[in-house]
Amino acid sequence: MIMTQVTLEHIRAARERIAGKIERTPTVLSQSLSEQLGAQVHLKLEHRQTTGSFKLRGASNAVASLSAEEKAHGVVAASTGNHGRALAHAAKLEGMRAAICMSRLVPENKLDEIRRLGAEVRIVGNSQDDAQQEVDRLVAQEGLVMLPPFDHPAIIAGQGTLGLEMIEQVPDAALVLVQLSGGGLASGVAAAVKGVSPRTKVIGVSMARGAAMKVSLDAGHPVLVEELPTLADSLGGGIGLDNQLTFAMCRDLLDDVILLGEDEIAAGIRHAYAQEREIVEGAGAVGIAALLAGKVKASGPVVVLLSGRNIDMNAHRTIVCGEAPSLKERAA
Ligand SMILES: *Cc1c(COP(=O)(O)O)cnc(C)c1O
Repeated sequence: MIMTQVTLEHIRAARERIAGKIERTPTVLSQSLSEQLGAQVHLKLEHRQTTGSFKLRGASNAVASLSAEEKAHGVVAASTGNHGRALAHAAKLEGMRAAICMSRLVPENKLDEIRRLGAEVRIVGNSQDDAQQEVDRLVAQEGLVMLPPFDHPAIIAGQGTLGLEMIEQVPDAALVLVQLSGGGLASGVAAAVKGVSPRTKVIGVSMARGAAMKVSLDAGHPVLVEELPTLADSLGGGIGLDNQLTFAMCRDLLDDVILLGEDEIAAGIRHAYAQEREIVEGAGAVGIAALLAGKVKASGPVVVLLSGRNIDMNAHRTIVCGEAPSLKERAA
């Protein structure tokens, strides 16, 4: 028995807690990818989740798990992306205060999006570290509760509800492909899938540029990795040198990790659009990209997660037209 701190029981409790607050997203068969692989390929369309990514599952579970006193104080996080959106939405649903801290480098359109969801946006300094200092200040001085994007038991359990749905929708899955960055998603999904179906393999997929978890797993401990611009921007960032949960869970539960180049990720976005008629962001497309690149072997049904759709539409248009997007567009 593998011991992990987030178990199937926690994930089932999370599902009860967030029922009615999130969508149960569909899983569909991909004709073209099934023909290419010679095995059934099912796509879990989680990019259609409210707020555009699975992050709403973890955020909703973490917010709903707070005590009445904590709820009265509100929540805070440093995030430029999908976790910030999800937390803003989840807090609003509970009628709570939410503050999202970001550096001055975050583009205006992302700020507007989070403000529209009703959160306070705090802009401080020139880096994520500066934003994190503001988080620490709000926790110390105003009593807000920090909810980090991945290394937290309620966040992992919430993301795990996605794994429960995947294995219920495709009970004979031989393999599940899941995005891997900080590892909250992969930890939760693997705990759920293997809890229900121990023989199903779970493989993490990351971009080769700045794959912090993969480098850390190879080293046997959390490692700092330089963050580089990538089409899969939602997979950027480190795992934290003081990682509490996700490093050990990914080490114990994942069967393998696949890394992808930028051209391969672009091909995944293009395939999702042209063949599957789905708009996905770079991170959302890496499972499809791994199949297209011939990096996956399967002897039975495969479930591929589409994890998010929050891509700048100008960048998306450039990619689906087959041009390499400029770094400026990638950062937008
Ligand atoms: C956050 C995110 C991921 C990675 O999740 P981790 O828990 O950090 O590994 C993958 N895809 C999308 C769209 C995300 O927003």
